[in-house]
Amino acid sequence: MPYTYDDTNIFARILRGEIPCSKVLETPHSLAFDDIAPQASVHVLVIPRGAYVNYDHFAQEASVEEIADFTRAVAEVCRLKGLEPGADGAGYRLISNAGRDGMQEVPHLHVHILAGHPLGRLVQPAG
Ligand code: AMP
Repeated sequence: MPYTYDDTNIFARILRGEIPCSKVLETPHSLAFDDIAPQASVHVLVIPRGAYVNYDHFAQEASVEEIADFTRAVAEVCRLKGLEPGADGAGYRLISNAGRDGMQEVPHLHVHILAGHPLGRLVQPAG
């Protein structure tokens, strides 16, 4: 499916430096920053610098270099925050909302990294 990217979205503006963010990590193809309305004690967003609407768009059209950089940026943020799910069992949750049922608000691909305490069930039961 072809996607149309709206470059007025808030993450595009952050990438252009038009509005500030609390940076966690910068890489050649990715940027990580704190979510402005955290839903957990650690809540970091990781975005590609490229103009991709969602994960599907990214998987279809991003280069291998962009995909590798983004994947490693997510893991690097987790390492920087001390979240590797190792012997102490800390761990984290990755979420990427897409489309209507995913209830995506910002139409630029982002992965939420949530952590810092037990996060409960992944989704509300359908009802
Ligand atoms: P989603 O519903 O997956 O599209 O999530 C969008 C996320 O972007 C929400 O968790 C917002 O709190 C976050 N957000 C919106 N504006 C900003 C901003 N200026 N800086 C950091 N995070 C933001």
